[in-house]
Amino acid sequence: MSIQRRKKHNRSNERRKLKREEALKELEVLEKNCQNLPLNLEYESFKELPLSLLTQQGLQQSNYIEMTKIQRKAIPLALRGRDVLGAAKTGSGKTLAFLIPVIESLYRKSWTQLDGLGALVIAPTRELAIQIFEVLRKIGRKHSLSAGLVIGGKNVDVEQERINRMNILICTPGRLLQHMDQTANFKCDNIQVLVLDEADRILDLGFEKTINAIIENLPKERQTLMFSATQTKSVKDLARLSLEDPEYVSIIEDSEHSTPISLSQHYLVCELPQKLDILFSFIKSHLQAKVLVFLSSCKQVRFVFETFCKLHPGAPLLHLHGKQKQTKRLEIFNKFSSMKHAYLFATDIAARGLDFPAVDWVVQVDAPENAETYIHRVGRTARYDASGHALLFLLTSEEQGMKAALDKKKVPIDKIKVKSSKTISIQKQLQSLCFKDPEIKYLGQKAFVSYIRSIYLQSDKSIFKVDELPIEEFAATLGLPGTPKIKFVKAQSKNATRQKPKKVPGYSSSDEDEGNSVKILEMNSNTLPNLDVQEKKRKEANPKSKLDKMFNRKNMSVLTDHYKKLVDQEADNITSEEELITLKRANHELSDELKQPVFFYAVYSIISSIN
Ligand code: ADP
Ligand code: MG
Repeated sequence: MSIQRRKKHNRSNERRKLKREEALKELEVLEKNCQNLPLNLEYESFKELPLSLLTQQGLQQSNYIEMTKIQRKAIPLALRGRDVLGAAKTGSGKTLAFLIPVIESLYRKSWTQLDGLGALVIAPTRELAIQIFEVLRKIGRKHSLSAGLVIGGKNVDVEQERINRMNILICTPGRLLQHMDQTANFKCDNIQVLVLDEADRILDLGFEKTINAIIENLPKERQTLMFSATQTKSVKDLARLSLEDPEYVSIIEDSEHSTPISLSQHYLVCELPQKLDILFSFIKSHLQAKVLVFLSSCKQVRFVFETFCKLHPGAPLLHLHGKQKQTKRLEIFNKFSSMKHAYLFATDIAARGLDFPAVDWVVQVDAPENAETYIHRVGRTARYDASGHALLFLLTSEEQGMKAALDKKKVPIDKIKVKSSKTISIQKQLQSLCFKDPEIKYLGQKAFVSYIRSIYLQSDKSIFKVDELPIEEFAATLGLPGTPKIKFVKAQSKNATRQKPKKVPGYSSSDEDEGNSVKILEMNSNTLPNLDVQEKKRKEANPKSKLDKMFNRKNMSVLTDHYKKLVDQEADNITSEEELITLKRANHELSDELKQPVFFYAVYSIISSIN
């Protein structure tokens, strides 16, 4: 080596050494500052906190300067290593409240690739997991930590190979547990931080057992950060199980209202048969807006979307529901995010944690199951410091119960009147669509049945009264030529349809099946006015008549042929999350979970090493 080259070599060695020493010193200082961080001070900006330079840069470059309330309260505690149970309404900035402590914890421990998995973030849905991942990419871009997503899908091999190289994993519960069980070299015994985001939703979706099983696999010596938009009893139960001597930080109880002040909230009272007319009229009078429209089931979403597209209201329409393939859902989500004006018809799947930028309106055509879901849904607008509007459609029978539930949750909502002179009736157009297009008719029939089912399955009977629904009129306003016949039956075996259904008010029904789901058997009789009475009379006369059996069989096949065709276009082999809401609070059997394929969505190495 020439003298010059050697000198150069030595100089760069020196520089590297110096850099390493500086980095070590920074770590030492950071660690000390975190341990001694005074908790009685009000920190306002991220700069005031003992965060690594790399994180400070990442935050700055993403334009995160001032902290939100929940961040001010939760981050200092988490930096000191405490377990945190955080409650704050949606849109308040919970993601950074846990991601910053996660990155900092690993950074201060000089975490490297060799240390393996150091932090787990569990989120209820794939969409939410992807969003968290994106935020992590943004603020962690200067770090040398690696992060990956495990959110279900197909390619197990690729993922099994890569999963062990990750320092931070963002996962949905089912997929994570599958890994713990199936991936031979998947190690969790070095986990430093566990995050449970939207814990209330995770539990709502029936993942309680899964979460418990996951927690059992994790080392006891760890930090746990748990966040949720609402504090239910089951959230508190889970907190007792997974957190150690936690600090409870709540922004909800501090504020007078549980929804943002910049959100104007109204409800209108109508009858079921008017709903689509009012929705259509709303669209016509709000063409220049970005609106999220909630409906109770994916069949409703499909019917309203397909028919409204044909009626050309003059605004771009999109739809999002749990029966769509994951890639399709993401595509629609991105499209809606990037559009200035558009209507997105969605089921609650869209309400869970998604951060749609600048949604002007949240319109709830079908009432939410309870006040908590209401808060989640309207949380899609007026995020951070933007303003927004929320409109809730209530049936006369739902008004009193829902208003009481919302009052109890401190939701300030005012009643508005619908001007019937301004309402456009689309019943005739729907009738003609149904008449011309059998697919639309079958969609309408499915939408009808699934709506009635969703009301039947609602747990809060003080709000939802299935026997008060004007079902024939409702069917007519969907454009259907008759009222589909509905029967709630036990879905145990193929022969189950032959069993005599048990009676419930207004409808014949039976108990839930093994998977605690109620399946509904229907339909397609065009001429069954006053079906409850007719059905009752018929059964009294002959409890298990030939007609009974034949009727069931015949209608089964009529339905399956056409319906299969429709559903197959979009069906996915992934369990629809939406189904889980409708059929509700079933605690997923672990074995079912394991049947779901796993797909390692992406691997992202945030950047190369410090020195
Ligand atoms: P939550 O999880 O509580 O629903 P998010 O973490 O998704 O809320 O944040 C809501 C929105 O606020 C996001 O668009 C996010 O980028 C923005 N945000 C969060 N924290 C800050 C901050 N400190 N400064 C500016 N914007 C922020
Ligand atoms: Mg969130």
